[in-house]
Amino acid sequence: MASATRVVIAGGGALGTMHAVMARRRGFEVVQLEREAEARGASVRNFGLVWVSGRAAGPELSLALRARELWAELGARVPGLGFRAAGSLTLAGGDAELALLKEAAALPDADRREFELLDPAAVRAVNPALRGEFAGGLLCRADAIVEPRQVLPALRGSLAAGGGGPRGKGQSGYEWLPGREVTEIGPNAVRDHTGAWYRGDLVILCPGAAHTGVAGRYLARGGDGAVRRVRLQMMQTAPLAERITTALADGDSLRYYPAYDLPGRALLPPQAAAAERAHAQLLLVQRADGGLTIGDTHEYAEPFGFDLDEDAYDHLRARAEALLGAPIPRVRRRWAGVYSEVIPETPKHPAVAGHALYHRSEVEPGVVLVTGPGGRGMTCSPAIAEETFR
Ligand SMILES: Cc1cc2nc3c(=O)[nH]c(=O)nc-3n(C[C@H](O)[C@H](O)[C@H](O)COP(=O)(O)OP(=O)(O)OC[C@H]3O[C@@H](n4cnc5c(N)ncnc54)[C@H](O)[C@@H]3O)c2cc1C
Repeated sequence: MASATRVVIAGGGALGTMHAVMARRRGFEVVQLEREAEARGASVRNFGLVWVSGRAAGPELSLALRARELWAELGARVPGLGFRAAGSLTLAGGDAELALLKEAAALPDADRREFELLDPAAVRAVNPALRGEFAGGLLCRADAIVEPRQVLPALRGSLAAGGGGPRGKGQSGYEWLPGREVTEIGPNAVRDHTGAWYRGDLVILCPGAAHTGVAGRYLARGGDGAVRRVRLQMMQTAPLAERITTALADGDSLRYYPAYDLPGRALLPPQAAAAERAHAQLLLVQRADGGLTIGDTHEYAEPFGFDLDEDAYDHLRARAEALLGAPIPRVRRRWAGVYSEVIPETPKHPAVAGHALYHRSEVEPGVVLVTGPGGRGMTCSPAIAEETFR
C-alpha cells in the first residue's frame, strides 16, 4: 500500500523539504513544488543554528531535542548538510547576566540541554578565539550547526538519488518541480500557475511567510494558531582564519529566549539603546568556509522597512568584536529575512492539532497547512514533519 501513497508538497523551504524526507522514509511517492527557481526564503537566510539551549521547558524542548536527533541522523547520511555538533556558548557581559546563566544551569532540565556554567578561563579553553571581555559563559553541548545555503539542495540530492526511502524499479520516488506556484487548492489537490493539477493522498502546504498567497484565506481567519511575520537583519563576513569552535550568543539573547524567563531576568540592566531599538541580540556562527554569520534584529510591525538599518549592524559588529577581542573580517554580504510565527501565547485549539509552537491545520479535505514555526523553524523542521505524518 505504501508505495501507492502519493504526497504533494507545496513549498521548497526547510519545512516542505523535511516533509518530503519524512514522506519518503515511509515509502510514499513525493512531488514537491516551489514557486521560485530555488528556495530563497527564511530557510536559506538563517544561521543554521540547531538551537536547543533557549527553548521553553516541556513540549518545545522535547520537539527541539527530537529534531536535534533527527538532524544528527540526517547529517551522518547527507554530509552536504554540514551538520556539526559544535555546541554553543552564551556569554555573560556582567554580574546580572552571569547570575541568570547560573539559574539556567540549575534548571531541572539542564542536563537534557547539556548545560555547563563556565568561568572565563574555562570558556577560553573551550573556544580559544574568545579573547575579549566577559564574566562567564553557559556551554550548551546540545546545540548544533548546519549550513543553511547547502541544506535544501543536499537533502533534495539525497532524495533524488533514492536516499530517502525504499528504491523501486530505478525510481527515486521523488520529483522536484521548481518554478511552480500553487494558486488553487481543492480536496486532495493543488493547481499551479500553469493550470496543472497535482493530486495526492495527502497535500501539504508549507508556504513559509507567504501569508497572503494561496494559504492566505485560511491564515486570515486568525484566532487560534494565528500567525504574524517577523523581519530580521543578518550579515556575513569574509573567512576568519581561526576556528570558532562553538556557536556564540551574547547576554542580550537572555532577554528573548523562553528558557531564561527566570527570576534573574527582571534584574538585568537595560539593553544598549541600539540593541533595544532593533530588538537585537548577537548570534554568531562560523560557516564551514570560515566566514562569520552575524545577526540578528527583530522587526514585528508591518509594513517592514525595505532597507537595511546600519545602526543595528554597527551594534552587532561592536558586540562580536568585544567578545572576540579582535576586529571581525570585512562584511561581504548583508540581507534581511522574514519568518512566519504563531503569535506567542496563542491558546491551543483542537482544530490546530494542539500546537502553539507552529501552525498545522487541515484547510480542505486531505490538505494540511504547516507554517509559523518562528525562530525555531530550522531547528524543529524535521520533528515538525515527523509529527505531521504521525
Ligand atoms: C534571518 C533568519 C534567521 C533565522 N535563524 C534561525 C536559526 O538559526 N535556527 C532556527 O531554528 N530557525 C531560524 N530561523 C527561522 C527559520 O529559518 C524558519 O522558521 C524556517 O526556515 C521556515 O521554513 P519554511 O519552510 O516554513 O519557510 P521558507 O523557508 O520561507 O520556505 C517557504 C517556501 O515556500 C515557497 N512558497 C510560498 N508560497 C508558495 C506557493 N503558493 N507555491 C509554491 N511555493 C510557495 C516559498 O517560495 C519558499 O521557498 C531564522 C529565520 C530568519 C529569517
